[in-house]
Parts: sequence; structure tokens; C-alpha cells
Amino acid sequence: MGLIVQKFGGTSVADADRIRNVARIITETYRRGHSVVAVLSAQGDTTDDLIDKAAEINPNASKREMDMLLSTGEQISCSLCAMAIEAMGYPVISLTGWQAGFRTDSAHGNARIKRVNTERLMQELDKKSIVIVTGFQGINRYDDITTLGRGGSDTSAVALAAALHADLCQIYTDVDGVYTADPRMVKEAHKLEEITYDEMLELATLGAQVLHNRSVEMAKRYHVNLEVLSSFSGQPGTKVKEVVKTMEKSHISGVARDKNIARLALVGLEDTPGIAFKIFSLLASSGVNVDIILQSIGRSETKDISFTVAKSDMDLARQVLEENKESINFDRIDVSDHIAKVSIVGAGMINNPGVAATMFEALFSAGININMISTSEIKVSVLVDLDDADRAVQVIHQRFYSEFGDK
Ligand code: ADP
Ligand code: ASP
Ligand code: MG
Repeated sequence: MGLIVQKFGGTSVADADRIRNVARIITETYRRGHSVVAVLSAQGDTTDDLIDKAAEINPNASKREMDMLLSTGEQISCSLCAMAIEAMGYPVISLTGWQAGFRTDSAHGNARIKRVNTERLMQELDKKSIVIVTGFQGINRYDDITTLGRGGSDTSAVALAAALHADLCQIYTDVDGVYTADPRMVKEAHKLEEITYDEMLELATLGAQVLHNRSVEMAKRYHVNLEVLSSFSGQPGTKVKEVVKTMEKSHISGVARDKNIARLALVGLEDTPGIAFKIFSLLASSGVNVDIILQSIGRSETKDISFTVAKSDMDLARQVLEENKESINFDRIDVSDHIAKVSIVGAGMINNPGVAATMFEALFSAGININMISTSEIKVSVLVDLDDADRAVQVIHQRFYSEFGDK
């Protein structure tokens, strides 16, 4: 018997029947003698619908008002779920992010959790109530509502699990675990029984949206026992942990793709020291996060530098560079968001030469051109044309999981 935090995503609470299903999962856990805190997302596409509604009124609405609006989606699902549990005869209370003690910084739309004041939660748990908490939100030092960024309810759940020293944090979603690739894109993908925090963090950061990457970072930091499972199937899910016993078996643990990126290329830069420093410090001071960087070999005293940023930062990055064209001194900027990043992740690859070559060979055999490459100890990423992205994931997955017999 212990304390379990259970998080349910948008699809899991999309309509009345699904809310009743979630209420059943929560109350069954409670009946087994556990204390339960459940964190819910907004129903189905509610958050997207709210964003569209705002655009009809004011396409340039302030981030503060957007947070005020977007936070309401989670209030609806939580109150409805509490009502379903009430109807089943169990003690329950729903709390908003601020009632549950979520204190964040003031970065509206992408706020970071600073702390969770758990007094109210503890009081309710002491009364033996089931507690339902709105995901994705908190309040800042001015008591204004903030949201944590899209997909942020996972992070709310892990933060609660860490603050309450929960025994387990279960992320219930619409697939029954973490797969070797997005199971909606690759039919042959298979479920992983376990994955390390580090590999999961890479996969989530590289585009596998099954977990918000900040939730994995936090789970690792606070040693939260994390499990990803389906709210529909009742099957065992995937455990995310520090060390996994299957580590030696596979060279890679998964393939991910990210369509939310853009590439900028500065052409005709002077081939002298200090140029890269100038470019990337300007971007950093404007808050633009740069990912893959490629510099060409200097020729006739000029060179080119290409780099990728999140699609949402593309216009800002271009603007910053154009405003400083004279001091940086370049011929032109080429910008494209018709690209995607496809990556393989696996702690096993560091000791296995040839993993990157296998990935490149799969792409070559499928006639897919690689624009940029970036590697680390546990990942290899390539940039490909947007139209090739899904096929790239499929051919890479097929090559690895038939070649190494990882199935
Ligand atoms: P929720 O609303 O429950 O938070 P999300 O849509 O955010 O759910 O995340 C679940 C989705 O993540 C799945 O439907 C699946 O399409 C996608 N996904 C991407 N990569 C993976 C992966 N490697 N394993 C499992 N699911 C993945
Ligand atoms: N409702 C929010 C979103 O759609 C948060 C979440 O679902 O995690 O991004
Ligand atoms: Mg999600």
C-alpha cells in the first residue's frame, strides 16, 4: 500500500464513457488500499480548439490571457472525473494547479515548475480523499495562471510524484507503452518492457511525444518510478528506470522523428576566427535555442554555417541575423522548414561501431538524401526532407530490427 500518482491524457478522458473508464481505474487503485492522486489533461482536442477560439478573437492575444484560457480545458475534465467518482460513492475532490500548490516561473506558455506546496494535497489525502489535479498549469509569483507548454501534464504528474514522494507515477495514454518507434507510423514497432531515463529523455526530446521530455528529466532527477501504460488495454506498460536489464540486448532502443524544426544557412561568411561566436551569442541572447550546427570547410576565404532551431523560433532567428547582417558579414540567409529530424537512440550504440553506418545505408537504399548529421554517445540524428521523414523512420526501423534480430 502506498501513494500512486496516475496521469490520464486527452484521449483517455475524451468523452463521458472514457471519463467513467478513468474513474474506474482510479477507484480500483484506491480500493486496493492505495492513496491516489490523479492528474488529468484536457478532453480530446480541447486545447487546440481553445487556441483556435482565441485566434478568432485576437490572433495576437497576450501569453497571459492565452494561459488563462488554456488552463480551463483541464478544469473541465477534472471536475467531470470527480463527479464520476462521486457518483460511484467514493470520497473525492478536484483541485486546480494553484490549489494543488504548483508554483512556476512567469514564462507564460512554457512555464517551469519551481516548487509544489503540498499542504492542501496532504490534508485531502489524510482525509482519505481521492485527489484529482488539473495538469499543465500553475501560478506564478503574481498569482497569475501559467501553463507548462504543450504536453505538459506529464510533467505536472511527475512533479507531484516527486513532491509527494509517491511510490509510483503511472502515465496512462492511448498506446500501451513506449515502442521502438511511433506505433501509429511503424506497424512493426514493438513495445519495450523497460527503458532507461537517459534513452527515454533522448527519444522524447527527439520527437517521441509519448512523454513530455521535461517529465523524464524530472523523473530521473528525483528517482521517480515511472510507468507508461494504456488506459484502454489493461496490459502491462513500459517501466522507465535508471538501469534496465535488457541493456546489452539491443543496439538501439528506438527511432524518433521531429517535424517541428527549421534550418537556417548563412552563406558566404568570412573565414576568420570569432564568426561562430558572434552568430550564436546573438541568437542565445535573443532566447533562440540552436540544435544541430554544421560548418563547411573554408574555400576562397569564405565559409557557410547551417543550423537548426525549433520551427517556432525560425522567424525570430532570421530577424536577429538580418538585423546584424553588417556586423556578421554574410552574403545571404537560406531558410527552410520543409525538413524533419530523424534519430536513432540507444545506450548500446557507443560500443558498437557500424550503428550509424547501418542507419545511413538504410536511408541510401531508400533513396533518401541526408542534409545534416549529428551524433552523441547515445543518438544519431539526420536531417531529411519533410516528405521523406515518415518513410525514413520506417526503413531505419526495418533495417535495425531485422538486421539485429531485436524483435
Ligand atoms: P496523451 O494525450 O495521453 O498525453 P500523446 O498523444 O501526448 O498522449 O502521446 C501518445 C502518442 O505518442 C501515441 O498515440 C503515439 O502515436 C505517440 N508516440 C510517438 N512515439 C512513440 C513511441 N516511441 N512509443 C509510443 N508512442 C509514441
Ligand atoms: N492539454 C495540454 C495539451 O494539449 C496539456 C497536455 O495534454 O499534457 O498540450
Ligand atoms: Mg502527451
